[in-house]
Amino acid sequence: MKLKILKNKNSELKFEMQDTTPVFANTLRRTMITKTNTLAIDTIDIHTNSSALYNEILAHRIGMIALKFKDTLKRTDECTCKGKGCINCEVKFILKKSGPCTVYSKDFKSTDRGVKPTTGDIIIVKLLEDQELNLEATARLGTWPEHAKWQSSNIGYQFYPELETSKDCDMCGICAKECPKSLIDTTKKIKLKDSYECDLCGKCVDVCPKKALTLTKDSTRIIFNIKSVSGMEPKDIVTNATKTLKSDLTTLSKELKS
Ligand SMILES: [Zn+2]
Repeated sequence: MKLKILKNKNSELKFEMQDTTPVFANTLRRTMITKTNTLAIDTIDIHTNSSALYNEILAHRIGMIALKFKDTLKRTDECTCKGKGCINCEVKFILKKSGPCTVYSKDFKSTDRGVKPTTGDIIIVKLLEDQELNLEATARLGTWPEHAKWQSSNIGYQFYPELETSKDCDMCGICAKECPKSLIDTTKKIKLKDSYECDLCGKCVDVCPKKALTLTKDSTRIIFNIKSVSGMEPKDIVTNATKTLKSDLTTLSKELKS
C-alpha cells in the first residue's frame, strides 16, 4: 500500500491510498469515526445562572465546544482511579461572568494549561445588566457512539476517477462547459485536469451528445477526506485508528489461540 498526501492544512487532511481495497478503507473510516476518543465537557455544576437561557440549553451549548487536549489524558473508565475521576482523566473548567457582556468559549478557564477550546470566539450566551453566570464544568474523554459531542471528524472517501473517450468523440467540448468544477481539458484530448478534484458526478458523461465518454472508478485507489471537528489533528485521528485496529486484531488473534 502507498500513501500520497494531497492536502494537510486548516484541520483538513486529504490523501490517496493506493493498492488497497474498499473493505480496508471502510474499516479504517468506521474505526476513525467510532473509536476515536476526544475531549468534551460532560458534567456541569451551575452555581448561578440568571441569563436568558435555561440551564439545560446552556449545558448543551457548552458540551459541544471542541477542546484541544494532551494525548496523555486517559478515559475515566480505563483510569487507575476506577471511574471516580482524577487529574489523569478529567479536566475542570471555571466560568464566572457578570453582565453586560457576551460570554465566549475563551472565557472558560481550565485547570490544565494544555487544555482549551479550539476556538475562543464561540458565543455561549449574552448577559444583560445584573445578569450573572457562575459554573464549574468537567471535561472527559469519550467517543462518538456515546454522544455526538465526542465526534472527532467528518470523513468521506471516494474511488479514483478515470475519464475515457471512445472513437466517437468529436471534441465538441460540451462536457468541458458542463463540468461543475471546470475540470475537463480539451486542448489535445478529452482528459481530467485534476483527477483528485473530480467528485464523480457524471455530468460530463450525461451531456455528451455522442455518448462517447465513460467515467470509471478505480477501487484500488481511494481518496480520503477528513475534516476534524474536535481538538485533534486529522493526522492523529488516522494514526490512532491504525493503532486501535492493530490492537483489536492482536487481541482477537490471542483469543483464538487460547
Ligand atoms: Zn482517573
